[in-house]
Amino acid sequence: MTESIPREIDCALCEETYTPALGPEEGEKSYRIYCSSCVNWVAIGRSNPLRVALGEVLGIRGEALELAMQTCLSPCKCGSKFSDDAGGRCPTCIEKIERETREEPPDSKDFKSPWNQKEMNKLEPKFLEYILGQTDQGEINLNQLIEKFEAGEIDPEEYMEKIDSLRFRESNQIAVVQAWAMTLEPSEVFAAVEEHDLVEQYGTRVLISIASALESNTGRPVMAILSKEIKQFDEIVQKELKTFMAKIGGGF
Ligand SMILES: [Zn+2]
Ligand SMILES: [Zn+2]
Repeated sequence: MTESIPREIDCALCEETYTPALGPEEGEKSYRIYCSSCVNWVAIGRSNPLRVALGEVLGIRGEALELAMQTCLSPCKCGSKFSDDAGGRCPTCIEKIERETREEPPDSKDFKSPWNQKEMNKLEPKFLEYILGQTDQGEINLNQLIEKFEAGEIDPEEYMEKIDSLRFRESNQIAVVQAWAMTLEPSEVFAAVEEHDLVEQYGTRVLISIASALESNTGRPVMAILSKEIKQFDEIVQKELKTFMAKIGGGF
């Protein structure tokens, strides 16, 4: 029987290193195997017969035993697999997500979107057309505005006015992006965001705006939405999202 060296993992959310639990801690009667995408868990007792049997019959311990246990678990009700590394999320991050989930209103399990999805769907092409139309209007952006100001091309008063209207225009655009996200099937939103290069257009923070919009029609908290979707974005975007998630980790 070989004693395996504890596996160290970098948390996918906060980047801290952690060691997945391969069994109950000293003095603990059981341990949890978390779902790899939500925060459901299965408690496995120290003397769980399957665990004991696998160790006994196959002569496996540590990680090998843990893997065998996971293979025997049916998928979580969310459709993902249970996994000893909780889908690459450290215990601290899991705890944050759990805490946030607990803070949901009590009726959120039976959450019903307040919107009529059929009617929402009809709006989708309109919203999208608006969003995509924003790229080629040639309107001045914040950086250009700052440059102009610093070059002395505009005076402070005009600068402030333009900043105001820029903010107004931007917040309207973000609202349209949010509304557009709400017209889509929630599971398809982030793929559509990728498809239309919205992160390039609006920056990473648009994902946060979208997640908070989705909270309103799915009942799922922002942190939970982002932690599920983060994997599909490129490294730079992931890094920025992680910074955000670390900041809000303590709850809203
Ligand atoms: Zn973490
Ligand atoms: Zn799950």
